[in-house]
Amino acid sequence: MSTIEEFNSHIMPTYGRFDLVMQSGKNQTAIDENGKEYIDFGSGIGTNSLGYCDQNWVEKVCEQVKTLGHTSNYYYTKISSDFASKLCELTGMSKLFFGNSGAEANECAIKLARKYSFDKYGKDKNRNKIITLKNSFHGRTLATLSATGQDVFHNYFFPFVDGFVNVEANNIEDLKAKLTDDVCAVMFECIQGEGGVLQLTAEFIDAIFEECGKRDVLTICDEVQTGAGRTGTVLAIQNFGKTPDIVTMAKGIAGGLPIGVCLANEKCCDVLSKGMHGSTFGGNPICCAGGMAVLEKLEDKNFLDDVAQKGYYIYQKLMACDEVKHITGMGLMLGIELKTKKASDVIARCLENGLLILTAKEKLRLLPPLNISYETIDKGLDILIKTLEE
Ligand SMILES: *Cc1c(COP(=O)(O)O)cnc(C)c1O
Repeated sequence: MSTIEEFNSHIMPTYGRFDLVMQSGKNQTAIDENGKEYIDFGSGIGTNSLGYCDQNWVEKVCEQVKTLGHTSNYYYTKISSDFASKLCELTGMSKLFFGNSGAEANECAIKLARKYSFDKYGKDKNRNKIITLKNSFHGRTLATLSATGQDVFHNYFFPFVDGFVNVEANNIEDLKAKLTDDVCAVMFECIQGEGGVLQLTAEFIDAIFEECGKRDVLTICDEVQTGAGRTGTVLAIQNFGKTPDIVTMAKGIAGGLPIGVCLANEKCCDVLSKGMHGSTFGGNPICCAGGMAVLEKLEDKNFLDDVAQKGYYIYQKLMACDEVKHITGMGLMLGIELKTKKASDVIARCLENGLLILTAKEKLRLLPPLNISYETIDKGLDILIKTLEE
């Protein structure tokens, strides 16, 4: 049996996969079992923020594996403390909770927001609704699916979790109308990644902070995809000069190791107390060690400026291509709307031509490693543009 047949006979068919068995990777290149090389403009899904086998990342992870691979959350570890303090410093937040994924980070944010209102306003007020945006994506667990503002996800798995209200993105009137007395938080992505790389306007983000501020409603910024340097700042919300009450991060924060964090500011960082929340693997030392390699890059202002510049470089080169209609996004998170071609056909052809890219809705989506070189960008763009012009 081939690897693919074997795989499909034991793993649930929840993904549409390409007929491609990945074997290894180096820098920004992935290599399949036949030795064919692919320039990677997807980084997993924005997870391999430093590409494959970044030297410092490998050294830190290997050192940690050899020292302490895991211990329970009944004990302290220095590595998780170091990671948390550096991440809080870089994001301007006070404390964090460790989980293993974006969905888990958002679950924590949802629980925290409800508990905040419960503590402050009492059970009888039912101040537990959370506003999320239409076309958002917040994860695959039942609560985060319920939070996700796309009807296609609200199927089969009834009953869903109550208490989520959807507002149209960038519609300030709709936001104000739905900010009723029973709302405890507004949760949003600065750029809706899965939803098609759609940006919120600065006016709408201003309105979220202003209206929530007036009502003591918590702001939850889902930075699972946009965070960790992706847009040229540590958090995308920093481009808008705002600091939310709660921030969630995952995907690229540990360079490809599973970690999710829910960060909270001074106002709500002690709301979840002993015994109220947990995660067996949360704060795993190996994941935190990998995360330290990423944070060392994010501390460097020049590195972040480069991310923004590389994004602009890609934007300009692609805008000169006839087939490209429109490009959205920031930094190295780009959504490309095409004039005539189908995105799914293009990514299949790119694969044959040696380039990995993603889609988001009907667009192409690029999430290259943050440390990608201009030389590799040019090589990848060459393949992409040739494929678009085929
Ligand atoms: C990917 C993603 C999630 C879910 O993360 P998982 O690690 O797959 O659970 C949540 N929110 C956003 C914005 C995402 O892009």
